[in-house]
Amino acid sequence: MSYLVNEKGYYGDFGGAFIPEMLQPNVDALRACYREIIDSTEFKQEFISLLKNYVGRPSPLYYAKRLSEHYKTRIFLKREDLNHTGSHKVNNTIGQILLAQKMGKKRIIAETGAGQHGVATATVCALMDLECIVYMGATDIERQMPNVKRMEMLGAKVVPALSGNKTLKDATNEALRDWINNPEDTYYLIGSVVGPHPYPDIVARFQSIISEEIGWQLDELIGRTSPDYILACVGGGSNAAGAFYHYLDDTSVKLIGVEASGMGIHSGETAASIACGEVGFIHGSKTLLMQDDDGQIIEPYSISAGLDYPGIGPIHSHLHESGRATYIDATDREALDAAYLLTKLEGIIPALESAHALAGLEKIKFNPDDVIVVNISGRGDKDMEAYIKCLP
Ligand SMILES: *Cc1c(COP(=O)(O)O)cnc(C)c1O
Repeated sequence: MSYLVNEKGYYGDFGGAFIPEMLQPNVDALRACYREIIDSTEFKQEFISLLKNYVGRPSPLYYAKRLSEHYKTRIFLKREDLNHTGSHKVNNTIGQILLAQKMGKKRIIAETGAGQHGVATATVCALMDLECIVYMGATDIERQMPNVKRMEMLGAKVVPALSGNKTLKDATNEALRDWINNPEDTYYLIGSVVGPHPYPDIVARFQSIISEEIGWQLDELIGRTSPDYILACVGGGSNAAGAFYHYLDDTSVKLIGVEASGMGIHSGETAASIACGEVGFIHGSKTLLMQDDDGQIIEPYSISAGLDYPGIGPIHSHLHESGRATYIDATDREALDAAYLLTKLEGIIPALESAHALAGLEKIKFNPDDVIVVNISGRGDKDMEAYIKCLP
């Protein structure tokens, strides 16, 4: 069984490129060249050098002693929160901006929901002196003003999407329309393991630096390269895909994805796309997503903006269906409690998204000598308002 993408762009039954005919040439052009570019020595050297000197990698793998005592097992935290810009998202935007440059593109477009991917994109565009246009739902612009201002300070143009609910889905439509109209000079920079093939594969490869580092760091720390468990939160699924990547074929490692169930799986206010989803089509790929009886996408809800996505990358639909990974969920409250606990025990305020991964620790029975890696996808500065409001 293969867990990676096949020639045709599928993970098992999922994935593919279900796009309007007018987008086909753009996607074909990307598919034709991406592997050759990112596998080249020159590209790898530039990518690794920026990850080291600009992002600050490798991110530490930290043995969390007090958290381990609390759960009576051995817990290591992969500190993506310490990256420049505060999360794993920059691993991907650095990779894709280099890819865009090598393809000779001058203009970068992206869509963003809460603004975090928009900020990560605007950051690398400033770094590379490339024009940056970020589509964002008008509702989201109002809700996420600090990120809008950040993007503008970084030199990006934030364009409001005014159709539909004026949220992420509508911003995606605007970005796709832009790409159709500007096929020559424009690169569409997607922020998670979603979208038409080859995007899920591109993003997973760039984020796979996370599991590559976990392997040698664990070896340095305890003399073995594989943990017993890896836990990561799942929005679109990029930090989880990166944390799982090099362990996909090592079935001694249990892979656990934690979805955001918001107010609860059955509350109607949830973002648990695997628990509540069915097979459908979103953002150009076949995957599991939350939809109503007419196939209309259901608006997701989670306290964490980064997990508030109605679908899931096709790689996770496949890992779920094949049984290779296990997906559990955590509610808003469970995530908040896990964040307060980590802060109190370790002096680390995690992003609300990462707090869902930590909440997963409550739900699994570990042995004392198990080795567990939790991917801390981001830091909590951006979530202080919610943390203050929801103190236990
Ligand atoms: C965006 C984001 C996520 C969710 O995205 P994935 O693609 O599922 O990784 C998780 N954590 C943080 C900190 C984020 O910013």
